[in-house]
Amino acid sequence: MTDVADTSTVSTGAEDPLPLWPIPSSLSPSRVSSFTSCPMQFRFSSVQRLPEPPGVAATRGSVVHRALELLFELPNDDRTPDALSATLDRALEEYATDPDYVGLQLDDAGEASFRKDCDKLIEKYFQMEDPTRIRDIGLEVRMAAEVGSLELRGIIDRLELDEQGELVVTDYKTGRAPSGRYEQKSLAGVHFYSFLCEAVLGKRPAKIRLMYLSNGETIETVPSQQSVRFINTRTNAVWKAVERACTTGDFRPNQSKLCDWCSFQQWCPAFGGNPDLAATEAVAAHEARLAAAGPTQ
Ligand code: SF4
Repeated sequence: MTDVADTSTVSTGAEDPLPLWPIPSSLSPSRVSSFTSCPMQFRFSSVQRLPEPPGVAATRGSVVHRALELLFELPNDDRTPDALSATLDRALEEYATDPDYVGLQLDDAGEASFRKDCDKLIEKYFQMEDPTRIRDIGLEVRMAAEVGSLELRGIIDRLELDEQGELVVTDYKTGRAPSGRYEQKSLAGVHFYSFLCEAVLGKRPAKIRLMYLSNGETIETVPSQQSVRFINTRTNAVWKAVERACTTGDFRPNQSKLCDWCSFQQWCPAFGGNPDLAATEAVAAHEARLAAAGPTQ
């Protein structure tokens, strides 16, 4: 069975009411972004933890991230375009039985198109940097730090040293690069990693970079004491808002362009849906998808 949070209502008769919804014990950059973009979507995905159908773009991103991780496991001199093509083959083999790939139900033409799009991303990667020169010290680095009663956590795609021996955080992006106005917003997640580096390793990175493999653009920024402090303040503010929403049950829908990609639109009150039906219907739809895809092991 899918792990779905308990949705039962708790008595609020006491002076200090118990939360109507279980309060998550940790926050990651994507959860912060999910809550600030749309509290209702946050309720579905992070509080109720309802399953979502896999998407081609997200799965393609995971496969390419894995191919790059495998490339960086090789000695520097071996990190050639042919090697990346081979690690992409290996990543695709690993994903062949993964529910996120199987669930896409691609036919032969769909699989060929999926591979072609992955090839384009890794070709672009080689136009952006020379991996033989990268002094990586960590790949897919999991970090967590306690801030009060809250755990902040994240996974850094790549941690490396620059020529001066300073830390650099690199995050690969396989979606479209943001326009200027959204650039700072997209950097908020990487500032979050910078905060984690300082909390866990005791050292603030000299630089954080977002590599957009779709168009070859790299966005870089230098974290400062102020930016790290801002992440701390902002995360605490979001956390308080999450606690408030879980206590009152008031998760408001916030319509935006993101609604076009939202897996929960049919249960969203902003679209005439009933959110209370999501728990049973989303799980039933997920189990039907798994049954249709057949055994994956
Ligand atoms: S459809 Fe839009 S408003 Fe509704 S939950 Fe999804 S993102 Fe939020």
